[in-house]
Amino acid sequence: MGQGGLATQLWYATPVVRRVSITALILLVGVVSYASVAFREPGSPVAAWWPAAGVAVVAVLASRGSRVMASVGVLVVAVAANALVGREPGLTIGYGIANAAEAYVVAQFASRGGPEARLDSLRDVSRFIGAAILGAITIGVIGSVTAFLVVGVDIPTTFFSLAASHGSAILVVAPIALVSRRLARGVNPIELVAQIGVLAGLVLFVFWPGNVLPLAFVPLVALLWAAFRLPTTLVAIELLLLTVLTTSLTGAGGGPFGPYAESDPRVASLLVQIFLIVHAGAALFVSAARNDWANVLTQLGAREALLRGGIVNSDTGILIAEIMDGDRLRVVGVNPTALRALGRDRMPPTWGVVGLRIARDETIFGVAELDDAVRRREAARLELDRDGRRFEVDLALHDGAGDATVVTMVFTDVTARNERERRALDAADRLRELNRQKDDFIASVSHELRTPVTSILGFVEDLESADLGRGERQATEVIARNARRLADVIEDVLELGTLSSPASAARATSEFDVVALVRHCAQDTEGLAVGREVRIEVRSADAPLMIRTVPQDVTRVLANLLSNAVKFSTRGGLVEMFVAAEDRGVRIDVVDHGPGIPPGALPHVWERFYRIEGDRHRDVPGTGLGLPIVRALVEQRLGGVVELHSDGRTGTTARVLLPWDRDTRIPRPYDERRDAATEYGDEFDQPAAIGLS
Ligand code: ATP
Ligand code: MG
Repeated sequence: MGQGGLATQLWYATPVVRRVSITALILLVGVVSYASVAFREPGSPVAAWWPAAGVAVVAVLASRGSRVMASVGVLVVAVAANALVGREPGLTIGYGIANAAEAYVVAQFASRGGPEARLDSLRDVSRFIGAAILGAITIGVIGSVTAFLVVGVDIPTTFFSLAASHGSAILVVAPIALVSRRLARGVNPIELVAQIGVLAGLVLFVFWPGNVLPLAFVPLVALLWAAFRLPTTLVAIELLLLTVLTTSLTGAGGGPFGPYAESDPRVASLLVQIFLIVHAGAALFVSAARNDWANVLTQLGAREALLRGGIVNSDTGILIAEIMDGDRLRVVGVNPTALRALGRDRMPPTWGVVGLRIARDETIFGVAELDDAVRRREAARLELDRDGRRFEVDLALHDGAGDATVVTMVFTDVTARNERERRALDAADRLRELNRQKDDFIASVSHELRTPVTSILGFVEDLESADLGRGERQATEVIARNARRLADVIEDVLELGTLSSPASAARATSEFDVVALVRHCAQDTEGLAVGREVRIEVRSADAPLMIRTVPQDVTRVLANLLSNAVKFSTRGGLVEMFVAAEDRGVRIDVVDHGPGIPPGALPHVWERFYRIEGDRHRDVPGTGLGLPIVRALVEQRLGGVVELHSDGRTGTTARVLLPWDRDTRIPRPYDERRDAATEYGDEFDQPAAIGLS
């Protein structure tokens, strides 16, 4: 803000400084007014020029708070000045009012009612010139009406001379206080001296007494030079210089308007003022345009610096080029990373200046695939090896200005990424191999264990049928129970081993009645169930349901699910098996009313050796291999789907879906809604409603 012109600086100054300065300016208005009236042409109702108008505008602009107060100050001093030279009271008061109104109007309009009137940009200058015109009209109207009423001068004459003298004064004087110092550009002193010399020389030549050639337009050249090259402040000062020289020389009868100074002085001053208005307007406009342009350049420069900073120091290579005249590619910008990827350490001059020919057979960047893509003008993505590094290159084409095509290439160094990927793949391979070794190991150990356990079982069975004493019989039972358990675990481990190996041989299928098979399984589990006082009931339609699949595998699946249901049922509980036909296959549900499986554990029960921790689970014997075997059998061997549903409180439902034919698999999930229910047992509908016997 402090960077604004004098008027703005006063606006923001401390109250004391501001008030003193404004008072001084207003007094200056009085002095200048006095001088102008005193030295006006004898008999004329108006003065030839009224520089006080410009000063008054600055005083009003600088005043903070009410501009009316400052305008009243202008009124007072203007009246005083006119009264001092002994003007008619009517004119004195009328002109005082006119001067005050003018200063107020110009200040308000030039600053949009705000604190600042600037001359920085074209927009500011337009506003200022508009304000000056409004002010000139204000003074013209009030002044000419006053003069007509008081001394009977005709209105147009007074209007034009007042408007011109005040308008030119505002345009020439006020800018000195409005130009912001921020715009001071570096000035070469030699140029400054030369420029002022030329302006003064031309003005002196054109307006020198004795020279009456109509060369009024000549000084414009020097003024435009100033507007183009010098800060607006200097332009404003030169305008004042121009005003002083042309006014005084014309008064002395010199220059193109000189002849009128003798015959009709009022015409002479009107002409000089129009001359000044035109020159001031032109110079201010050009200077402002120049400022605008400089501003744009600064902004662009800043933006480009930002962009360059980001691009040049980037790990990503970027090359931007344009296709010129259809047959050459000119590189507009390229950063070091892109140059490195293209095997260069600097941009060859041909790339940026003349451009590279992109005709057939001509080498462009020396990378065959890239050159081809440029030649065909096709977007491309390729990989490039350079000095042990690998780059991914993205070539894209965009529409440029006019019919130009812009080509961009982005080079991403993927060496590190590729290396990471390779390492991850290696690690995965190693893990797979370890896993295979582990499976092999478990399989061979289990195999080795099977023979001795079988032999133990054989002898224990002999012992069981032998006639033994009470103690020996008990010991034999313990041996038999544990040997059978060991044998079961070994079988499970071996089974899982074959299932998880990809080459697990599928057994032959046959067509059979699945309802009958379910009943057999229920009977087989009867021994376990009776021991725990659990009832098993099978519910199904009477008609047989024939499916083509592997009966041994189905049996194993159902045996596992049934054993879980019975093991986890409470004493005296009921386990139900539902068998029902569905579109794609047969659905078998094994439902118990035991403790259930907590929702959080549901996904884990399918993992090997996973067993739920908890009072009601811990006491039940098991290894945690049953469900993994079930899932592998159903999904890999039988082409079906198996799901567990439980709310974790009131029991568990194990559901198996077997396709009518093993070779037409049922994809997972069988039913989105039901699969979701796996997590939320409550929503799962119990199967009782299916048509059952
Ligand atoms: P195995 O089947 O190898 O003899 P297991 O029965 O413990 O041992 P899984 O059949 O794999 O192993 O079952 C894993 C765990 O899931 C069980 O230990 C038990 O905690 C839980 N679970 C399985 N079925 C039920 C069920 N019907 N009710 C409650 N919990 C169950
Ligand atoms: Mg089990």
